[in-house]
Amino acid sequence: MAEHKGFSTRAIHDGQQPEPLTGAVGVPIYATSTYQQDELGKPRLGYEYARVSNPTRDRLEENLASLEGGIAARVFGSGMAAVTAFCQMMKAGDHVVAGDNLYGGTPRFFNQVMAKFGVTFTYVDTRDPANVQAALQPNTRYVYLETPTNPLMALTDIAAVSKVAHAAGAEVIVDNTFMSPYFQRPLELGADMVLHSTTKFLNGHSDGLGGVIVCKTKEQAEALAFIQKASGAILSPFEAWLILRGVKTLAVRMKQHDLNGRRVAEFLAAHPKVISVLYPGLASHPQHELAKRQQHGFGSMITFDTGSLDNAAKVLKAVRICTLAESLGGVETLISHPASMTHAAIGAEGRAKIGLTDGMVRISVGIEDVDDILADLDQALAAI
Ligand SMILES: *Cc1c(COP(=O)(O)O)cnc(C)c1O
Repeated sequence: MAEHKGFSTRAIHDGQQPEPLTGAVGVPIYATSTYQQDELGKPRLGYEYARVSNPTRDRLEENLASLEGGIAARVFGSGMAAVTAFCQMMKAGDHVVAGDNLYGGTPRFFNQVMAKFGVTFTYVDTRDPANVQAALQPNTRYVYLETPTNPLMALTDIAAVSKVAHAAGAEVIVDNTFMSPYFQRPLELGADMVLHSTTKFLNGHSDGLGGVIVCKTKEQAEALAFIQKASGAILSPFEAWLILRGVKTLAVRMKQHDLNGRRVAEFLAAHPKVISVLYPGLASHPQHELAKRQQHGFGSMITFDTGSLDNAAKVLKAVRICTLAESLGGVETLISHPASMTHAAIGAEGRAKIGLTDGMVRISVGIEDVDDILADLDQALAAI
């Protein structure tokens, strides 16, 4: 009956039921590597060894599957460990069509690790489903999407790309880290798997790494459970508990992130020192209509162009409340420089190709009082 309950109710209750032995309302952290067996071949409740399964982890997987509307979820030690697990579902000779503006670490792993194992990748601008269509090959197993993209805020029509991919026998996986399931649910739009770095909005407090893949089919769930056991890049019970704690407030956090994000985007768009602002919630965003149709909110990820590396450095040095740091999705406002930080690995040529300039600054708007964030940005922009 889970699907009939509201999002916040599911976030707080699914997988989060009181513990049967003591009634503990908080899910216990099962800090154990192994489990006593009553007799040979009779593990209690099926628990044998913690790489294979752990009750805290099980609860988190149940919770995240519910939030994304999947049948199961599998959690890993980081977002990149989830990307790795996804790649381990493939074999030599498989081909992937991927967006050309992904989180920097993802193409780094595809190109510098997976390519060595005979998996090939074609990167296209997925804003136009025709580009995906043109890149599909007979051996294309997956289409790998991020929407909105990091840091250029380009959107992909998940339903349209899913149609094109499915017609060619390929599955679609969406990295939904930027939106969280509160604002976007790719499985409902036709995608086949959803991936998150839980490090970001799902945990929400910048205090733990994690990754998840949410599945639509039993085959995917079984394949990924086997990969957890066989490869071992699992999430620890402590981190699983942190995320279970974090998701309880996901809905209220996302609402505030979104309100603050809209205010900051409008402020930046009107600021004379800012050359351009990329935010799907602005009517000026070329894909604003798609954002309204596909997402339930616009979130708090904003990229703005200061015009030069020198200007970006000045702003980033002058901020006081906004914290200069990589990462995103925490309650605190984080500000970063994609060209030298998250997207250094793709090189100047790669950045030029997708339109990522040296003057761009990315901000993950937190849930502080928005007037304080605006005042901080205003005084920092005065340094230009
Ligand atoms: C951070 C991030 C990742 C990688 O996750 P880690 O938890 O840092 O390993 C993948 N995709 C997106 C969109 C991210 O923001």
